[in-house]
Amino acid sequence: MVIKLAKYIFPFFIIFGNFNLFCSEITSTTKNIEFNINHAEVISGFPIEGNLVIAKTKPENKVLFNNQKIQIDDSGIFIFGFHRDEESSSKLVIINSENDQFETIIQPIKREYKIQRINGLKQSMVSPPKELIKKIKSDTKKVKIARSSSAVIGDFTKGFDWPVKGTITGVYGSQRILNDVPKSPHFGIDISVPNGTKVIAPASGTVTLTEDLYYSGLTVILNHGLNLNSTFLHLSEINVKLGDRVNRGSLIGFSGNTGRSTGPHLDWRIDWNGKRLDPEMLAGPMKQ
Ligand SMILES: [Zn+2]
Repeated sequence: MVIKLAKYIFPFFIIFGNFNLFCSEITSTTKNIEFNINHAEVISGFPIEGNLVIAKTKPENKVLFNNQKIQIDDSGIFIFGFHRDEESSSKLVIINSENDQFETIIQPIKREYKIQRINGLKQSMVSPPKELIKKIKSDTKKVKIARSSSAVIGDFTKGFDWPVKGTITGVYGSQRILNDVPKSPHFGIDISVPNGTKVIAPASGTVTLTEDLYYSGLTVILNHGLNLNSTFLHLSEINVKLGDRVNRGSLIGFSGNTGRSTGPHLDWRIDWNGKRLDPEMLAGPMKQ
């Protein structure tokens, strides 16, 4: 086995400081950033917190991300993403059929996040009553199982559509202060729409969860393949069943105000291998 010494390191130099910009501004500021992977071709994306990178290598190769083997499809496509706060760099290793290893060290660009205060929530939604702890724990487990299930790769490499269009009222990564109590950050994007608005699949996928959960109300999880999932929260009605294969643009359900919600809206989340990604970065600016 030969370990190739040639390494790619991203960023080659720091061009930017921290970001305190809206997603669309980040995309336009950074669209000229060049990002390369040793022995793979980048199809889309670059390393910044909350973003997804889609790349392609030879289908017979193996890909390790931080020493963990990640899924690769029959044509050699693989993906990886970055969480809200990525403190250390990531190591991507491509291993060919001769067992040669090609390494890329990736330090995602850091972003700054907003602080969002929400008051007037029912106290039971900020600190749940004891008798509901069991239900909440079982909800978390169901979501975890659904998000780690595997599904065939769909068409998300061509991009994502917005599942609804409306006013964005909550963004990815914001620090939440609920009734003056600091809580974990918000990982979805909140889009204010009237109750009963059609929610469509942003890309094709397999339905891996349809449940009524304590915090997120009527919820659907769609696995797009390669461990990438979309979650749709606070629905008023679900129109798909567990195991359904849905096409991009087809109806999943209708928006609502169920669970911990202060008004009719859709909360859309995306995750990859336990990392929470920014849906706005993946779907791009919303055109009404
Ligand atoms: Zn939300």
